[in-house]
Amino acid sequence: MSSNTPPNPTIFFKPGIETKFRIDFEHWQANDPSWKSTFQSYLCETHQQSLNEEQQSLMIDSVNPETGEVTQVDQMWDILVSHCAQQDDFILENATLTDSVFRALIRNANEPLSAEELSQIISKPAEVILKTISGPRVYRGIRPVRE
Ligand SMILES: [Zn+2]
Repeated sequence: MSSNTPPNPTIFFKPGIETKFRIDFEHWQANDPSWKSTFQSYLCETHQQSLNEEQQSLMIDSVNPETGEVTQVDQMWDILVSHCAQQDDFILENATLTDSVFRALIRNANEPLSAEELSQIISKPAEVILKTISGPRVYRGIRPVRE
């Protein structure tokens, strides 16, 4: 044990307006037992109907053949990002702020976005967005990316 041990970043990390956020799926899945049905509800109407339950569960358990990594949301995620999230009505004006942030991140294929960038997408003040998504309660796995 060295006395030069740096402080625990999870305690001292404070996100700013330029801090990027992304959806941490592991965190979401670990903390929300109904994440799967919530996730499915973001599919557009056509895809909700075209994917029956069996197909959805097959897709959800996809395994990356190269790394062997089980990426549970891979296939449905592809459909969601490439089609459903690109629909005009995916980001609704009257949605809650957290839901809008979640949708904006999906539309961006979960490439991290800062409060500043999110502000331009969902037309809400960046300070309000930052305060909401950096609070103690993690909403659907939305967490800051530490670089
Ligand atoms: Zn769709």
